[in-house]
Amino acid sequence: MTFSFCEKVTDQLNSGILVLDLENRIVFWNNFMAIHANKKLADVFEMSVYDVFPELPRRWFERKLEGVKQLNSPSFCSWEQRHHLFELPHTRPITTDSHYMAQNITFTPVTDNGELNHICILIEDVTDVCHYQTMLRKTLDELAMANRIDGLTQIFNRKHWEECLGQEFSRARRYDADLALIMFDLDHFKRLNDTYGHQCGDTVLIETSKSIDELIRISDTFGRYGGEEFAVILPETGVVGALDVAEKIRQRIEDISILYKDTPINITASIGIATLCDEDYRYEDLISKADQALYQAKDNGRNQVSVYQNMIACV
Ligand code: GH3
Ligand code: MG
Ligand code: MG
Repeated sequence: MTFSFCEKVTDQLNSGILVLDLENRIVFWNNFMAIHANKKLADVFEMSVYDVFPELPRRWFERKLEGVKQLNSPSFCSWEQRHHLFELPHTRPITTDSHYMAQNITFTPVTDNGELNHICILIEDVTDVCHYQTMLRKTLDELAMANRIDGLTQIFNRKHWEECLGQEFSRARRYDADLALIMFDLDHFKRLNDTYGHQCGDTVLIETSKSIDELIRISDTFGRYGGEEFAVILPETGVVGALDVAEKIRQRIEDISILYKDTPINITASIGIATLCDEDYRYEDLISKADQALYQAKDNGRNQVSVYQNMIACV
């Protein structure tokens, strides 16, 4: 009488209830389980849970049950640890990555007169929680990425690039490592805008960014510093290595030929290099030195590389 009353109650639940004896045989499950597993209780009664659900991660599951038995206390497994244990199809009217319902699972010891004789497993369908959390995480990741990217050129924006420089600067100072900075500015860009229009200028900025992004190493950080000025952080790099990269950048830009409305457009860039030395206390010092070298390159006639000369002691 009591059992049938309990059965009626559990059959109303929108969660699965599965009861195992100490040999891991199924002695009860509610209507939710019967519907989602597509098997009546009578079909699985006293069958091993591992035979009914061969997909269970058996060693993990056995350890979990053992822990519940030994400690005589409940244990929990969330969908974030394991998306699901039981391959039960979800019935939510949403499209998810998984065919199976995401599950929060609670293992509870059942005692009679103080003696443990069963384990009750509660399976909650958290497919929608999982779905919306995953969407939220994806959106937040996309937002974080958008916050770092320059809208026109799709390379890092100045804010993010400076954060990277700050981190690399601190790391290089702490470990006494090399660090080089390259800054370059497109030559006579105003003239190009004035002659062919801003749209043409934009195209040149996009193509230049793409081309240099492909050229530099994965460990280097390339960003748009502003307008038609770009910058590259080169960790673990001294003046010789930086000169090599800067010359490659200069050559690549010189080689770029953009066909804009049937007109071939060619550009050049002036490049400044600075390397870390003892007198640099803030990353801004490095930017200022690279900027001075860049304007030296402009003064010397453009389309060339110039290195900031550190004090003798630092070279
Ligand atoms: P220099 O060789 O001395 O660098 O001369 P410049 O003409 O390149 O330098 P200047 O600083 O006089 O001009 C930079 C121009 O870049 C002016 C500005 O309108 C243009 N500019 C800045 N940002 C953008 C942009 O996003 N798109 C376009 N099309 N032009 C831009
Ligand atoms: Mg310029
Ligand atoms: Mg400029």
